[in-house]
Amino acid sequence: MQRTSLFHQHNGISKKITIQTRRFVATVSTQPEKDYNNNNYHYQYADVFSLLQACKNLNQLQQLHAHLFISGFAQNAEIASKLLNIYAECGNLESARLLFDKSSRAFHQERSLGKFNKHDDNISFWNAMIREYANGRFYTETLRVYYQMQLYEGQTSNNSTLPFILKACAGLSALQEGKRVHNYIIKAGFESEVHVSAALVDMYSKCGCIEDARQVFDKMTERDVVCWTVMISGYSQNKYGEEALRIFDQMQAVGVMPNCVTVVSALTACGELGALHRGKWIHEYLVRRGFESNVFVGTALVDMYAKCGSVEFARQVFDRMPKRNVVSWSAMITGYALNGHGNEALGIFNQMQLTGVKPNSITMVSLLSACAHLRALQQGKRIHDYVIRTGLDSFVSVGTGLIDMYVKCGSVEMARQVFDKMSSRNVVSWSAMITGYGLHGYGEEALLLFSQMRQTDKKPNEITFLGVLNACSHSGQLDEGRQYFECMTKDYRITPTLKHYACMIDILARAGHFIEAQDLIKGMPFEPDICVWGSLLGACRIHHNIELGVQVAEYIFALESQNAGYYVLLSNMYATAGRWDDVAKVRVMMRARGVKKPPGYSFIEINSQVHAFLAGDRSHPQSEKIYAMLEKLTEQMKDAGYVASTNFVLQELDEDVKERMLCSHSERLAIAFGLVSTSPGIPLHITKNLRVCGDCHTATKFISKIVMREIIMRDANRFHHFKDGLCSCRDYW
Ligand code: ZN
Ligand code: ZN
Repeated sequence: MQRTSLFHQHNGISKKITIQTRRFVATVSTQPEKDYNNNNYHYQYADVFSLLQACKNLNQLQQLHAHLFISGFAQNAEIASKLLNIYAECGNLESARLLFDKSSRAFHQERSLGKFNKHDDNISFWNAMIREYANGRFYTETLRVYYQMQLYEGQTSNNSTLPFILKACAGLSALQEGKRVHNYIIKAGFESEVHVSAALVDMYSKCGCIEDARQVFDKMTERDVVCWTVMISGYSQNKYGEEALRIFDQMQAVGVMPNCVTVVSALTACGELGALHRGKWIHEYLVRRGFESNVFVGTALVDMYAKCGSVEFARQVFDRMPKRNVVSWSAMITGYALNGHGNEALGIFNQMQLTGVKPNSITMVSLLSACAHLRALQQGKRIHDYVIRTGLDSFVSVGTGLIDMYVKCGSVEMARQVFDKMSSRNVVSWSAMITGYGLHGYGEEALLLFSQMRQTDKKPNEITFLGVLNACSHSGQLDEGRQYFECMTKDYRITPTLKHYACMIDILARAGHFIEAQDLIKGMPFEPDICVWGSLLGACRIHHNIELGVQVAEYIFALESQNAGYYVLLSNMYATAGRWDDVAKVRVMMRARGVKKPPGYSFIEINSQVHAFLAGDRSHPQSEKIYAMLEKLTEQMKDAGYVASTNFVLQELDEDVKERMLCSHSERLAIAFGLVSTSPGIPLHITKNLRVCGDCHTATKFISKIVMREIIMRDANRFHHFKDGLCSCRDYW
């Protein structure tokens, strides 16, 4: 074999070899063996390795590769592996793959002729490719090479390949393939290998099979920190926070020291559980061990504190961090958004941009959720522009975040535009759009979209069905509701949760099918919760079913005696029936139990400024104009046939006084302000903290027709789109 187109030269005691091509010179120190007979130096593979190591960039590497190819070195599997490895390190997986394809075929032929490379060397060459693909997260490619390897070399994976194959299975959630690999591991006796077993635990937990993961973990006779860590993070990823923390304690009890990754997983578990006390305890431990300055640990702390509702602590940790990456910034933004501090979230985003850290898709999703929470449509639109400019809108998660933001800010049309423009959609995107339609009372659109989804390869999940059932309930579609509730279990084998039952009960009760609803409650495998009883009570009010209503109210007050909303519902029911004694009794009951009706308020965003109104509020600077507008509207409404339905007022008062009280409900003040401060034709977006009252609902229908405006109102339950004297909820709410 030709070995020496490499030059050498003496340089004092150490010697250097130089490889020279037209454009590239690499020099490394070496100790070549002198062949005294020929007065020549023989270079060893070690020298070539050093040369490869010395390559600084792709260009140099390609030159050296060409050289090694000519000189025959590249036919050695070990050197080929190293070359492949360095190509991958330079980020050029395609060249690595080209080299791999060429060489693996050659090696196979040579081996069948019984020459050149040892079998083990060939295996390590395959392994090198598998490892690079797995590390580069090209999981499909990883498995493809793995199958190819079995074809060429037989089932010869060893303990250093298997963890990477399992990593690929985990990344693809390819449970069946993972199980096949597990069988092979048992047969080949690799189960006792610590890292193989750790990879198995990781694979099972990433595929959502936490029990299988635990079985593998329990069988291990020896466990290092990596094993403990994968089990802890497995539990915390699968939302078994308690178990995660239990294993974390066990690990320390047997004297294994956690590393940064372990601690990050434990913190995630604390955040998931809202276990602030445990989280603080781990924080102190981190400070003692000097881990706090680690950027991943710092970020996990921010995330934990935010999820535990302690956004001030999160901010303190964030401010102390010596280094912050995009994940840290995003965690802080999410933290603010999660805790309802939308303005602070937007503020942190501005600060982030000043520091030059580039936001990623996660940052955008957090920001969009902040806007959704604030119902800040104009801000949300600005972020929409930003993601288009930066190309981040190509991420499915960002598109889905946009849909969610537009839906929650009341613009279902914009949500649909985003949905239609998405180049790819996952089940979350479909579910968000379907749920959005339902929330706005567009039941038919929701069901149409659902049937379109069923024609794609995307499988609806339990959240999709919740959206579908919600849509049926919000638009009063009884038959469809029944049909989809059945289809969910029959066709998709999804076990209904309490929430699904609550929706179905709501659908039945709203349609007046009280007996069927009660039967469903009796037959369900859960104890009915406040949502179930609450929707039943709401339906009793719509259908004037006082007898059942009173009974249901008792169940509700036994579960939760402090929510004023249910007392109001009951009281409204009595009022409608003219049973003023009972209305008074409800009031006495509320007083005796210390229940206070939270003040109803409404707000409206005008030019990115939020204006809030309480009932009867006269504190707004433009109060005079607002009340003048209200008076004018009331006249016009009466001319159009509006009669105030005064039984929505709790107290027994003169009709006259009651009417005036209704007129100054917070939602009407917000509408009037919207009308005096925007140009004709512009839709008004109003948010109310409680349910919209029946009389204001009727009034708003009239107003929408009189002033020829669309009025979109979000109350505590749903959206109402008022247009041309009608509401999208068809008076079902
Ligand atoms: Zn009202
Ligand atoms: Zn409505």
